[in-house]
Amino acid sequence: MKVGNLVGLVGWRGMVGSVLMDRMQAEGDFKLIEPVFFSTSDAGGKAPAMAKNETLLQDAFNIDALKRCDIIISAQGGDYTTAVFPKLRAAGWRGHWIDAASTLRMKSDAVIILDPVNMPVIKNALAKGGNNWIGGNCTVSCMLMGVGALYKAGLVEWMSTQTYQAASGGGAQHMRELLTQYGTLYKEVAALLNDPKSAILEIDRQVIAKQRALTATETANFAVPLGGSLIPWIDKDLGIDQDRDTADWGKSREEWKGMAETNKILGLGDGFGTPAVPVDGFCVRVGAMRCHSQALTFKLKKNVPTADIEAMIAADNQWVKVVPNTREASIKDLTPVAVTGTMTIPVGRIRKLAMGPEYLGAFTVGDQLLWGAAEPLRRMLQILLQA
Ligand code: NAP
Repeated sequence: MKVGNLVGLVGWRGMVGSVLMDRMQAEGDFKLIEPVFFSTSDAGGKAPAMAKNETLLQDAFNIDALKRCDIIISAQGGDYTTAVFPKLRAAGWRGHWIDAASTLRMKSDAVIILDPVNMPVIKNALAKGGNNWIGGNCTVSCMLMGVGALYKAGLVEWMSTQTYQAASGGGAQHMRELLTQYGTLYKEVAALLNDPKSAILEIDRQVIAKQRALTATETANFAVPLGGSLIPWIDKDLGIDQDRDTADWGKSREEWKGMAETNKILGLGDGFGTPAVPVDGFCVRVGAMRCHSQALTFKLKKNVPTADIEAMIAADNQWVKVVPNTREASIKDLTPVAVTGTMTIPVGRIRKLAMGPEYLGAFTVGDQLLWGAAEPLRRMLQILLQA
């Protein structure tokens, strides 16, 4: 059945929402829809310039106003989804709900959307009347855009990922806090830095003293200093009351998502009647501004020549780019600074590991606000409009 084009937009001025609006404008998506802009804080205010006939902001908690929409895209956050989505469905709304928040991701009637990787899963759900489309965890989505080819070929026995995640994953306030900390640390030793004869150990001593003295206000978002440091835990402590000697024990929620979402995106695991591919590792916040990076270790089901692996990865989609495993190319093309604001997903450091010929290493970087958040949402809108 043709889907109507009255599209409700909630969360459009947040961080993910702003990137989404930019991408929708760049790709001409607004030409195809009649947008209705919602707000949780400014109902009745003026809608942004992309509005056509619906020029006033609607109340994002008004179920009747939401019910008018054929499609709703929310980048407002999990609390909003939890508060509004069940009421909207209970009120009989049968429209398409596209969401950046994790709230509904693992529900059996929701598809995690990443169409360059799982178009068949999306099309299958659409044919069966599916109407809940949820963006994946940013790290998982960026990883699969890079190395999805190995999964599609059924080559992966297991994968371990060690992540290096940017401050932006936490939202705008987290980015500001990181930069402010860098500035505070710089100011602390600026005079010493300007004197080429000053002792490096004195600079080091003053920096660590300042880091340890940062106040609760200066660390309000990350809870501990991130500038010049790292934080080896992201998201909630699942606190699973499990046997300490099982893999469920002591996992962060971000680490748990790695296996749960990778398999669900690919249509593997319990819900699909196939064995899940084990995915595990450590998720670490680092002092990068934007872009999540990850070092991947694969155990492949068989020994595949490195050149074949590179060719498979390169041919998977138009955004992935294989970076030659040289020092020069890696430090130039495989960094958050190189990738931020681009749709490119570089995959490099591809090499066999010392453990044996089936063990493969790789390193990938992705802009988690683009492929990790906004882009799959706007592409799902396109899929629905073309259905
Ligand atoms: P955010 O920047 O905090 O924005 C969420 C909402 O906060 C906005 O829609 C806005 O709602 C309100 N807000 C309050 N003060 C604001 C201000 N000064 N500027 C802009 N907005 C303000 O959240 P987000 O990082 O975009 O995340 C939204 C959802 O996407 C979350 O569920 C998150 O988990 C998910 N996600 C985030 C990322 C990421 O990398 N950040 C990646 C993937 C998924 P009103 O306009 O209604 O007031």
